[in-house]
Amino acid sequence: MHDLLKALTALQRVDSELDELTRSSREYPTMLAELEARLGAARQSTDAIRQRLADLEGQKRALEEQLAADREKVKKWEARLAEQRSAREYSALAREIDIAKKQNETAAEEIAELAKQIRQAREELEAAEAAYAEVENEVQADRARIEAALGETSQKQAELNERRKEAAASIPPQMLRRYDLIHERRGNALVPVLNGACTGCHMSLPPQLHNLLRSRPRLDTCPSCGRLIYVPSAFEEQVEGQV
Ligand SMILES: [Zn+2]
Repeated sequence: MHDLLKALTALQRVDSELDELTRSSREYPTMLAELEARLGAARQSTDAIRQRLADLEGQKRALEEQLAADREKVKKWEARLAEQRSAREYSALAREIDIAKKQNETAAEEIAELAKQIRQAREELEAAEAAYAEVENEVQADRARIEAALGETSQKQAELNERRKEAAASIPPQMLRRYDLIHERRGNALVPVLNGACTGCHMSLPPQLHNLLRSRPRLDTCPSCGRLIYVPSAFEEQVEGQV
C-alpha cells in the first residue's frame, strides 16, 4: 500500500507538471496569431499610405500632362494672334488666350498643392515604414522566443512522458486506469483527507469511512467526487510502527 501511494504520488507529480506545460503552451498559438495580426495591421497602414501616395502622384502626372498640352495650345494661339486680320477676331482670340492662361495658372496651383501633399505623404510613408520595421523586428524577436519556448516545451514533454512511463510501471493496470479516468475529469486524482474532509472536493467523509481510512493505510474513493483518497497519518503511523 505504501509503495502504491508512493507510485501514485510520483505519477501525479509528473502529471501536474505535464498539465502545467500543456496549459502554458496552449497560449503560444494565440500569441503567434496576435503577432501576425500586429504585423498585418502595420503593413496595412503602410500600404494605405503607399496607395495614397501613388494616387497623388498619378493625379499630379495627369495634371502636368494636361497643363503642358494646354500651354502648347496657348503658344499656338499666340502665334496665330498676329495673323488675325479683323480686330474682332483678334480680341476674341486674345480673350480665349486670357481664359486659357488663367486656367493654366489654376492648374499649376493645383499641381503645386499636389506636390505639397505628395511631400507630406512621402514623409508619412517614411515614418510608417520605420514603424513597420520596428514592429517587424519586435515580432521576429517575439516569434523566435515563442518558437524556442515551443521547442523547449516539446522536449520537456518528451522527458515527462518518459518519467510518466517509469512512474506508471509499478502501478497495477486497473488502478492506473482508474487514476487516469479521475485525472482526466478532475485534475488531481489522488488527494489526502484532512480534518475528515476530502481535499479535492472539500466534502466531509462519512465518519465510518474516515475511521476506516484512519485505522490503517488504505486508498479509497471519495463518495462525493470519486477521487482517490487516503489519510496521510495512517501511512505515517504504519511506517513508524514498522521501524
Ligand atoms: Zn472528494
